[in-house]
Amino acid sequence: MSKTLPVQKNEYIDVVFEDLTHDGAGVAKVDGYPIFVPNGLPGEKAKIKVIKVNKGYGFGRLMEITEASRYRVDAPCSIYKECGGCQLQHMSYEGQLYAKEKQVRDVLQRIGKLKDIKVHPVLGMDNPWGYRNKSQVPIGEHEGGLIGGFYQQRSHQIIEMKTCLIQQEKNDEVIQKVKDICSRNSVRAYNEEKHKGELRHIMARYGMVSGEVMVVLVTRSNELPNKNKIVEEIVTAIPGVKSIVQNINSKKTNVIFGEQTKVLWGEEVIYDFIGDIKFAISARSFYQVNPEQTKVLYDKALEYAGLGGHETVIDAYCGIGTISLFLAQKAGKVYGVEIVPEAIEDAKRNAALNGITNVEFAVGEAETVIPNWYEEGVQADVLVVDPPRKGCDEKLLQTILNMKPKKVVYVSCNPATLARDLRILEDGGYKTVEVQPVDMFPQTSHVECCALIKLI
Ligand code: SAH
Repeated sequence: MSKTLPVQKNEYIDVVFEDLTHDGAGVAKVDGYPIFVPNGLPGEKAKIKVIKVNKGYGFGRLMEITEASRYRVDAPCSIYKECGGCQLQHMSYEGQLYAKEKQVRDVLQRIGKLKDIKVHPVLGMDNPWGYRNKSQVPIGEHEGGLIGGFYQQRSHQIIEMKTCLIQQEKNDEVIQKVKDICSRNSVRAYNEEKHKGELRHIMARYGMVSGEVMVVLVTRSNELPNKNKIVEEIVTAIPGVKSIVQNINSKKTNVIFGEQTKVLWGEEVIYDFIGDIKFAISARSFYQVNPEQTKVLYDKALEYAGLGGHETVIDAYCGIGTISLFLAQKAGKVYGVEIVPEAIEDAKRNAALNGITNVEFAVGEAETVIPNWYEEGVQADVLVVDPPRKGCDEKLLQTILNMKPKKVVYVSCNPATLARDLRILEDGGYKTVEVQPVDMFPQTSHVECCALIKLI
């Protein structure tokens, strides 16, 4: 079969990279046959080795760069290759933003058939490092002490990590101190194979505006040797700590958290702000990991919604109500719907915390709850969706076409499903006015978009 292909396995060839895949690999083409090569950058000339050939595409390894991209830089992180958490550190930030804009435009044109679509330059960060507010590291043992960091790619070997460059420095400091304190107090790391030992993960969360810190110790059982002493030492060593929590996960599983959570010291939650809105964050709550850029994204959603103070708005896939509460400040009434019951509990609590009363939250599938609301006579002027990577359910898109809100604001973490869904809305009488990509995750290949769609 491979005889008919333009390249053979193990062949060395010279290529020019034309593009980047959505996960940051370089794309080279030989007689139209695409080869994906990690670490290759668009415009770059290189020698590669073909390592795998499939019918429609192959994979290669970068052997030598013969002409570097003007965006190529040395990745600043010393464990960049082993970790795999970032995909674009070998590209300057300017290059990353440019590549993300191009990716969004290409996908909207290719999958969504949206010709002449207006895609704005990506809104990036002034400082694209140290933005993550949450760090969770698996714990292992090395030479009698605890280590923590990340799993080596495609294995369960834990690699020690002292700093992560996209992580808030405070979180690195917290994780390091908690690791040392637990080590000194004879805590053993959980051993996956034997299902023995205690400490499975340490999680640190930092409220970037409030300065509050939460420490979560995920353990195999209720037992944790020298528990009181550990707590005392954490409180002394970490300024700003407001909450120390133990989560018990007794299962043999890759899932980090177990069902049972108990407060060891301080509060059950920490607080933080996005814009003027205050959020209570518990150990298990979903909370955006880059609040600075979340504000940028949601300000854009609010701008696109163009509210005058009296409109009815539906926020589908509302999570803990972040967008709903943002919109409620400028709307008549906001309805939020989300499938995870705990998230809706948080959303209600957050509404109360901010004295926001013109919101109503429901638990359920957006594609089931919104048609019911529509039947009961709820008519949205603006409908906001912020679905997971797989995009909106078709039934929801159909309900939008029936309900005919004047505007749809689509917040998306996956340009491919955004493109697919925009095509359905366009075929049903809507027009995509503009798309604003926002860089929520610098150094990685992810890109978020906010799209404004109007009924024509
Ligand atoms: N807008 C939220 C988060 C959006 S993430 C925020 O800004 O915080 C997508 C959310 O959709 C997740 O919370 C997920 O639980 C929820 N979800 C997934 N499938 C769903 C469905 N069919 N109906 C409603 N919510 C769903």
